[in-house]
Amino acid sequence: MTQLDGLPVYQFEAWLDQPHLVHAIFTRHGGVSRPPYATLNLSRAVGDDPSAVEQNHARIYQALHISRSQVVQCHLMHGTAIRVVTGRGDGGLPAAADGLVTAQPGVMLSMRFADCVPILLHDPQRRAVGLVHAGWRGTLQSVAAAAVRVMTEQLGCAARDITAVIGPSIGPCCYEVGGEVIQALAAALPDMAAALLRREGQRVYLDLWQANCQQLLAAGVGCVQQMAVCTACRRDLFFSHRGDGGRTGRFGVVIGYRVVASP
Ligand SMILES: [Zn+2]
Repeated sequence: MTQLDGLPVYQFEAWLDQPHLVHAIFTRHGGVSRPPYATLNLSRAVGDDPSAVEQNHARIYQALHISRSQVVQCHLMHGTAIRVVTGRGDGGLPAAADGLVTAQPGVMLSMRFADCVPILLHDPQRRAVGLVHAGWRGTLQSVAAAAVRVMTEQLGCAARDITAVIGPSIGPCCYEVGGEVIQALAAALPDMAAALLRREGQRVYLDLWQANCQQLLAAGVGCVQQMAVCTACRRDLFFSHRGDGGRTGRFGVVIGYRVVASP
């Protein structure tokens, strides 16, 4: 973990040699929201004071030296819709999708999380990036692989050039699932389901990290890094929908390329 402008963030060693790449996973710290959203809540849809949320957005943009007008977000739907972003946003939520991809310099992709799996995608050859939101429904439908496919088919990326990072999210230690999820998985992933479910007496736990890692590798992605940080275990650092009992904030993830000034 490092600090940007006083905000704690996670960044990846392997990506820091790309001088124009902007990437950050923020935590729950460094903002102005009050409990139960304390402090860096970025969601406008969880009941937090709107002016606090706007101040939190301003803080992360300042920390990354980007402007609100560069930021593109979306309504998260637990589906597999992937949106190719070709122009700047306004910091708002223009469309419904669970994956955003772009090869447009200056565009900053952003999503908010509290247990669902953030997947950051980066192709340094094509200078393309992607951001995916994968809960169990999205994972079941291989939303991460869908984003890789759009990057290869529409942005000209080679899958082997893409590195993926599986960010902080609820881990196999804490993600107890019920019969509905187990049945859906067993039907959709007959071979994989056994590997992804851990049984402890009557309780069954799902490994979303492993599931997404397998899907990304099967999609041809060259390298998948699992942070293996569980949001429910690390409520001291991240918001966790389950760990915090439902009323909580959302932490932010941002990825994009800066415009390179012409000489
Ligand atoms: Zn855990």
